[in-house]
Amino acid sequence: MKRLIVANWKANPDAPGRAELLARKIDYLVSKKVDVVIAPPFPFLERVGRVLKHAKLGAQSMFWEDIGPWTGEVSWHQLRPHLKVQYVIIGHSERRSLGETDEMIAKKVKAAHYAGLKAILCVGEPKKIRSRGFNAAVGYVENQLKRDLAYARPFANYPFIIAYEPIWAIGSGKADDPKESAEMARRIKKWCAARSFKRTQVLYGGSVKAANARAFFAEKDIDGALVGGASLVLKEFAAIIRAAVR
Ligand code: PEP
Repeated sequence: MKRLIVANWKANPDAPGRAELLARKIDYLVSKKVDVVIAPPFPFLERVGRVLKHAKLGAQSMFWEDIGPWTGEVSWHQLRPHLKVQYVIIGHSERRSLGETDEMIAKKVKAAHYAGLKAILCVGEPKKIRSRGFNAAVGYVENQLKRDLAYARPFANYPFIIAYEPIWAIGSGKADDPKESAEMARRIKKWCAARSFKRTQVLYGGSVKAANARAFFAEKDIDGALVGGASLVLKEFAAIIRAAVR
């Protein structure tokens, strides 16, 4: 399986022209040996989507209902097929911290699968849980999986993408130990396999950069990366893509 690298641009950059330029440059780096997804903010999806020839387009969230009276929301229906969105990040810790609940996340995962979008479900423990030991972190993550995939069973044949992102590693400059993340990836795959979720791909996210990407990809259970800050810096992101090529 090819590695999957996801660029989560969050609320960046500041203007559509800059988004297009960065997307063009990233797209140029993508070969057949790696899958790359660019997830720009909603207002830039269309413009970025127009220039991508090799990378795929992703959204950073979506609403689970169809079109209708949902002020401020973006429905799955509007992401596909009107925009060329194929992937959607769901349950990012920055959204959870703004009030997104497991129930909302479970509805989004279900709606994404129904819409034919590939959901990238983000899970990961806060620092205080990890400081109680690795097994406490595994328990926390398994609980998230249980709640966030509560409605996903009918779609069990769909490829599942889980991004393991320990919250304390996101944007901190201090990534997790690749060996511990790989062990978490194994535990996530085991949990999914026991519930008949097939073809689970596990990404690592949290301060991935050029300097540490190879150490994560050396772990056979880490199938790619979800990259925030470094995906906005072409030189850094180019090195991460190169490291991911099999
Ligand atoms: C993220 O936002 O998912 C993320 C991993 O960010 P960063 O790479 O900046 O830590």
